[in-house]
Amino acid sequence: MSKAIYPGSFDPITLGHLDIIRRIHPLFQELTVVVANAQRKQYLFSLDERVALIRENVGDLPGLRIEPWDGLIVDFASRGNARVIVRGLRAISDFEYEFAMANINRRLKGSLETMIVFTKPEYSFVASNMVKEVALHGGDLSSLVPPNVAVALSNKFPRSTGR
Ligand code: ADP
Repeated sequence: MSKAIYPGSFDPITLGHLDIIRRIHPLFQELTVVVANAQRKQYLFSLDERVALIRENVGDLPGLRIEPWDGLIVDFASRGNARVIVRGLRAISDFEYEFAMANINRRLKGSLETMIVFTKPEYSFVASNMVKEVALHGGDLSSLVPPNVAVALSNKFPRSTGR
């Protein structure tokens, strides 16, 4: 058993992300969900909002931390002595990006292992960007995100009356 990190944008967290967190949490002594805050990226939710939306769902899991980070993932891992980066894979379309990331991270820090966890089929099409699109058009979010995220999204995209 060792320490692992699960990095991502989580803009916002979806049922797919939460499923991965709940499945990998028992496998490690300590798991940190690392919420990326890259300067060059535009997020719908602020860092504090993204962290809070995660915490409200899984904040009570023992040994689970939720931390922001705006640097290299390998540096975060080194600071906390994490040995494993966990990433989720939904479909072949995710593969090239995840493979490149894993290899870059290995080049930067050879002792850090990337573990890929396959999504459950019911979440294979669930992506934060898709969810935002559904929210923008007032679609049903209940099978895509937890209730707190559905509320937060509808606050971001209030539907105009008469539609
Ligand atoms: P990033 O910007 O780093 O890709 P995301 O928040 O989009 O951040 O995703 C974080 C991680 O979670 C990635 O490894 C991504 O492939 C994975 N992931 C995203 N959605 C799902 C899902 N529905 N099922 C499983 N893994 C997922």
